[in-house]
Order: sequence, then structure tokens, then C-alpha cells
Amino acid sequence: MQSRLPDLIITDFNMPEMDGAEFVSRCRRELSDPEVPIIVITAYDDRDFRYRALEAGATDFLLSPIDHREFRTRTNNLLTIGRQRRIIRQRASLLERELDEALRRQAEVLRRGEMKLRRLIDSVPALIVTSNGAGRCLMANSFRNLLASGPDVTSGTIEGVLGTAYWQRHAPLDRRVLETGQTLPAFEEEMTDSFGRTRSFMTTKTPLFSDGGRIDAVVTVSVDIGDPKESENRFLQHANYDPVCGLPNRLIALDRLSQAMVLARHGGTEIAVLHIDLGGLKNAYEAVGHALGDRILLGAAKRISDHAGAADTVARLSGAAFLVILPGQGGDGALDGRIASIIDDLGHPFILDGTEFHVATSLGVSLFPKDGSSPEELVQQAQVAMQRAKTEGRGPRFFAPEMSGNTYVRTEMERLLSKALERDELHLLYQPIADIGTGRIDGMEALLRWKSHEFGPLLPEFFLPVAEETGLIVPIGLWVLKTACQQAAAWRKSLGRTIGITINLSHRQFLDADFPRQVADALAAADLSPEALELEMTERLLMGNARQVHAVLGQLRGMGVRLAIDDFGTDYASIMCLTRFPFNRLKIDRAFISEATESVGGGALVAAMLDVAKGLNLQTVGEGVETPAQLEFLRNHGCQSFQGFLLGRPAEAGDCEMRLRSRPETIAPSMDGSEFSPSSD
Ligand code: C2E
Ligand code: MG
Ligand code: MG
Repeated sequence: MQSRLPDLIITDFNMPEMDGAEFVSRCRRELSDPEVPIIVITAYDDRDFRYRALEAGATDFLLSPIDHREFRTRTNNLLTIGRQRRIIRQRASLLERELDEALRRQAEVLRRGEMKLRRLIDSVPALIVTSNGAGRCLMANSFRNLLASGPDVTSGTIEGVLGTAYWQRHAPLDRRVLETGQTLPAFEEEMTDSFGRTRSFMTTKTPLFSDGGRIDAVVTVSVDIGDPKESENRFLQHANYDPVCGLPNRLIALDRLSQAMVLARHGGTEIAVLHIDLGGLKNAYEAVGHALGDRILLGAAKRISDHAGAADTVARLSGAAFLVILPGQGGDGALDGRIASIIDDLGHPFILDGTEFHVATSLGVSLFPKDGSSPEELVQQAQVAMQRAKTEGRGPRFFAPEMSGNTYVRTEMERLLSKALERDELHLLYQPIADIGTGRIDGMEALLRWKSHEFGPLLPEFFLPVAEETGLIVPIGLWVLKTACQQAAAWRKSLGRTIGITINLSHRQFLDADFPRQVADALAAADLSPEALELEMTERLLMGNARQVHAVLGQLRGMGVRLAIDDFGTDYASIMCLTRFPFNRLKIDRAFISEATESVGGGALVAAMLDVAKGLNLQTVGEGVETPAQLEFLRNHGCQSFQGFLLGRPAEAGDCEMRLRSRPETIAPSMDGSEFSPSSD
């Protein structure tokens, strides 16, 4: 065994001299490869033996007498696994070698990178100087040569390299940076160039951290802003600072962020980037005019700035959007606290000449280094998170990769979706809902599709998130409402009976106080009775603006419209939550239905959901029923209605009408093929 490694060992348990357990443990000791599979053959009632063999390192068991088919399958499986393991191991060692090589190459790149960096630093039109606590000059870029030279360039001290006047100005500032570890605000100073002209510089100082996180040097950057008397100076100020709030603009913010990133990389610290959007400010401007509107903006800027320390940056990006950069701040409880207090502060009304104005704060956060490696990216991700906060409710949101997707496709999709309505690219498919007892189709759910000229046919999961975030869902949702009501009216006319119509609602539609009136209008325009319309929404809706949602739902119910909870069980609404709202039906999500017949737990869960619904006097619909067994399960547990491919896939209105005409009371096999097959296109 030591000279030739076996592929597989099969042993009996009962043997003379030593038993199977001892044999296995001896093998394990002797074999050079710990993964050689060992099968032990035991009699049926030898449970104790099996445990012992397992402890000794057996891989699998066979019961004697041996079933030869089973024997072949098991051994084949183990041998295949063994082969694959060997291949994987080979690959791993290959990768290891490649990694070594890559590391070596990287070191070389780094060395060359440093040289390049040095050249780059020398080419910057600014004086860059690094000094340590003892006043030694660790580095000065070649811009230094353009200045009147100090008395002793070779001394290696700042005083020697840049002169006594310079050193007297800078020594106390350097000390401050070394003591506090904070970046100093930019200040102006004058220096004489090698032609004897006085020039103005905008100078900043930042600490430089060693690998251990200690501050061991100060980086001083002095940007040449020319002759102090020139008006250019003021221009610079103007171009970089927002005139209303006096805050840095986007450009400066990106620059500060990139400086902070350099330090954070050195010190191994994090940075939090907050994107804050103030909703409702546009209305305020319209209501009170520009001068007063600016005062609200200024007030908001001040409240935000109150939360920023010396090392932090608050900038105004555009319109009502602010950026806050918090170096040294990671995603922890302290950050949560700071964010909460900013939101809280902005939540108080602004009082102008006795009138109160409210702004709606949406706040998104990205973290360095987790969420991005460039300043632009971090700001973008914070904005994406802010958008999410805006669409989903008022709480702050931290960036998560699944929020962004491919940004190019995203922007294209936004652009095209905004045209989809006028280009007539949206349409509705209908999926039947039937009574479980009789099999009779008594309703149709309208499901939105976008036949985009550029992207091709799209399912809602791809474009609905974009529609939600951009707010396009509001006009689109209205179109769905009207179109579905018209379709229901058309079916009533041609079939002579009313088919209930179900539409899906987005949360955004509920934020519009006008929504109940739009529903009433759509019903009136189609001459449809309110009971024929069912509105579906997901549990998530009940989490946010409970009061407003409650009011809108109450109004709709008052009109006689039916309300249903969609995808029940997939989100976090508590059952208690449901009792507070006036729903008629609960639709149990497809995920649960497919589990119902797969496992005992799944079955118990669906049965319990059906029980709870019954207790709350809610009707139930099983979603996504695909097999007769699932249907049978639902029937046996008292579910009233069902929907799913077993009954019918979403289909064009014309096909649905034919279906309703020909066999309205049968559970038909599902319509053939995909809904995007050429015939249905
Ligand atoms: P939903 O309301 O839960 O719709 C049911 C989804 O499950 C539909 O996907 C349907 O095609 C699919 N489905 C139905 N039966 C089966 C089945 O037996 N097996 C499987 N595997 N799937 C089944 P669809 O059409 O892609 O819609 C996805 C979601 O998009 C909908 O979920 C709904 O929440 C939303 N949606 C669709 N149309 C609209 C709309 O007009 N407005 C809004 N706000 N949301 C919509
Ligand atoms: Mg639905
Ligand atoms: Mg659903």
C-alpha cells in the first residue's frame, strides 16, 4: 500500500486477527493520501460496528449480503470523485505556481510604478514636500527648483531646502498635523520664485501614516495660484465653491475624497461617503421664490455642516444634493448614530417669515474601500444607495452591489423606458386565476411586458426596478390600470359575463394622494363595477408610510375595490400587520407552493399559512401551481383559488378570450411553449 497507492479499499468488518475498524485506522495511518475511499461491509444490524468504522475513517458502507448493482454504483461514484479530486489538486498546485509568478511580476510592476510616480510627482505644477517631526526633508519634488533656493540645499532640512522664512511659517503647522493627525484647511502663502517674483500659493497639509498606522510625516502641497493681485484668484474661489452655501463643489469634493483615500490606504482606515438629497425643495422654491428658497438651502447646508468635524468635508453637488465625506469612519454603530442625527436635524421644519417648510431627506452611504476604488465610483455608489432610499422609504441605505447593475445598460434602459409608453412598446399579458373547487376561471391577472425595440422583449423583473427608481412606474402603472379595466370591459361585452381583473401595484403609486381618484376614473371610463377590480400589492408596502397607506387602502376599500397581498411569505410583514389593513385575499408565493409537496416542513408551512388566512377571514390563492400534486395539496388544505402554469401561462388577451370561450371550466394543460415564442409575438 505504501509503494502503490490504491484507488479504493473494500473491506469486510468481521475478519480474523483484526476487525474492520482497526484495519481502517491502520490504513489511514499508512496511506500517504488521506482521501483514498474505504468501503466497509457490515451486516444489517451491526450499527455499532458502523459507528466504530466511521470513527476510524471509513468513507462509506455496504450491507451484506451485497446488492451488486448498488455495489457497482457506489464504487463507480467513489472512483469518479477520487479522479476529480486528483485533477483539482493538480490544478491547485498549478494555480499556486501561477500565483507565485504573478506576485513576482507585481513586485516588478510596483518598482517601476514607483519610478513613474516619482516622475509624475515631479511634473505636477505644485510644490510637494514631505517632512518628519524633526524638520528633516524626506522628499521635495522638482518644483522646488523654480523657487529661490534656500541657503543649503544639501543640508537635508526643510529650513535648508526652502529657507528660514518658510520654515518659521511651517514648523508650528507641521507640529499641529503631527499631534492631531488631521488635515489642515487650505491657507494662502507667498513665496518668491527664482526670477525674484512674488507668487501666491494655496497650501494644504496632511498627515502621512506609516504601515503601523502611526503618523510619521507631513505632506505639504502648495498649488501655485499666480500673482496675488490677479483676479484669477477670485475666479478659482468661485469655480470651486458653491456661491449659495459657500460649500466646496463636486470638483473639490472629489479631490478631497481622493486625498482622504490616499491616507486611508496608508493607515488602513475606512471612509464613509454620504449622499444626501433634499426632496421638496423645488416646491419650496416655486412657492416662496428664489431668495427665500436659497435661505432654506443655506439652512440645510448649515445643519449638515454642524455634524462635520475638522477632517470631514461637506460639499454641495447640485440642486438639492449634498455630499459628506467622513474619513476614518467605517460602517458601524457610530456611523449609524451620526447619520441618524443628520436625518433627525433635517427633519425639523425650516421656518421662514413664520411659515414652516419641510424637506424629505433621502440618504445613501458608500464605504471605502469596500464599495469602490475611485472617488467618482464612491460618489456614484452613494448616489445609487440614495436613490434606493428615496424609492423605498425614508430610512438611510448603504450601498450594495446588487443595487447598481451595469450602469451603461441602466442609463440606456432609463432613457428608452421613458419613451416606451409613447412608442407603444408596453403591453399586458393575462394569466388566469381559477376556483379550486370548480376549476372555473373567475379572474385574470394583468402582467406587464415591454417589447423594447432596442432590447427585445423584457420581463418585468428587468425593467420594473428601473421604472420604480426613476418614478416612471407612476405613469406606467396608470396605463396598466386603464388598459386592464378596458380589457375587462371588452371581455364582459364579448363573453356576457364579468371576469375579475387583477393588477399589480407599485408602492410609488400609493404615495400619490390622487391614486384613488385615478382608480375611480379608470373604472368609470370602462363602465366597470369596482368589485371586478382587484389590486395586488406586496407586504413591503405595509412597512413604510403606514399612515398614508392605510388611508389610501381604506379609501379604495370604501369604493368597493378588492385588495390582495401578493407573494405572501417572501417579505417580513407580520401577521399582525395584516389584521390592521382591509385585505380580501392573500396570495401565497410560488416558492412555498413548490415546497409544499417536496418536504414535510414545506407542507406544514403552507397548511399553517392557509389556516392563519382562514382565521383572519381572508381568501387564499396559491401562486405558481405547476403540478397536479400541488393543486391537490392546496385543495385538501382549504385554499380557494389557484394560479400557475398548470392552469395557464400568461397569454395575449385574444388567446385568453378563446380559452374563456371554449373551456372555461376545465383545468387545461398549460398553453404550449414560452410566452415569447414567435407565435405570441
Ligand atoms: P406576481 O404578481 O407575483 O406575478 C406572478 C409571476 O409569476 C408572473 O411573472 C408569472 O409569469 C409568474 N408565474 C405564474 N405562474 C407561474 C408558474 O406556474 N411557474 C412559474 N415559474 N412562474 C409563474 P412576471 O409576469 O414575470 O411578473 C413578475 C412580477 O412583476 C409580478 O409578480 C409582479 O409583482 C410584477 N408585475 C408584473 N406586472 C406588473 C405591473 O403592471 N405593475 C407592477 N407594479 N408590477 C408588475
Ligand atoms: Mg401579482
Ligand atoms: Mg406573486
